[in-house]
Amino acid sequence: MNRTLRIGEIELSFVSGGQLRIDGGNMFGVVPRTLWQSKSPPDERNRIQLDTNCALVRTTNSLGLIDTGYSGHLPPKFRENYALEEGAPLARNLAVAGVDPNDIDWVILTHLHFDHVGGVTLRDEDGRLHPTFPRARHYIQRIEWTDAVANLPELAGAYNLADLAPLEQAGLVDLIDGAVEIAPGVATQLTGGHTRGHQMVSLQSAGQSAVCLGDSCPTIAHLPTFWSMAYDQFPLTVRRIKPAILADIASEDRVALFSHDPHVLAARLSRGADQEWCATTVLGNRDS
Ligand SMILES: [Zn+2]
Repeated sequence: MNRTLRIGEIELSFVSGGQLRIDGGNMFGVVPRTLWQSKSPPDERNRIQLDTNCALVRTTNSLGLIDTGYSGHLPPKFRENYALEEGAPLARNLAVAGVDPNDIDWVILTHLHFDHVGGVTLRDEDGRLHPTFPRARHYIQRIEWTDAVANLPELAGAYNLADLAPLEQAGLVDLIDGAVEIAPGVATQLTGGHTRGHQMVSLQSAGQSAVCLGDSCPTIAHLPTFWSMAYDQFPLTVRRIKPAILADIASEDRVALFSHDPHVLAARLSRGADQEWCATTVLGNRDS
């Protein structure tokens, strides 16, 4: 199926970093199950189906990736709880797409939770971790890195340092502050909310534009203001910024890219009768 979208001179191809299932209550925060279950039907363990939609970005002079899915070296119990795919899904799916990891020039990580950063390292036969993309600069907001390595008791379990150490040792981490142009037409934007250092990514070329929302709005079911994740570290910030981000996308007729939707990779937004945002699919995911 077609998983490619053109934004002016930028070509976006979506590559899964692995499907997973997460508890529906965790994914929808204050929204009761009686409301969310019709949009995202849960399995017998109350988990809903999600994907990790990574974007392979080809600009005029570089090849990059936005987010990397989860790693292939998580503990068996964790893998079972989240119904993770075997092996290292991103590396496998890039190989299927004919992409050589040595050709990746840059990686933007929206934030450092396990389902976004895990694909940056691979385990070799000796059991050692090494960077998956040995030539790539890895762009992370400085305050995200600070929180990830701070070992804060209130964020226990949120960050997996094993994923990050090989990158730092190889000198591949670039810490950035706020908005930075990473490649022609590709720029970061600090949002906060989901995590203090969460960033989204804006893609602009030849009058066309898209926004990779990261976990500010992970699926189309999260478009309404109060439909936000219990994982959000600053829920009120998400409620404040998400409507503004979505209004901006709609008013400029930009394409919204969803990091976890199992059905929709890209959509345009419009106001529904209830004044919440509705998605019109531009590019479907495999389960659509
Ligand atoms: Zn996520």
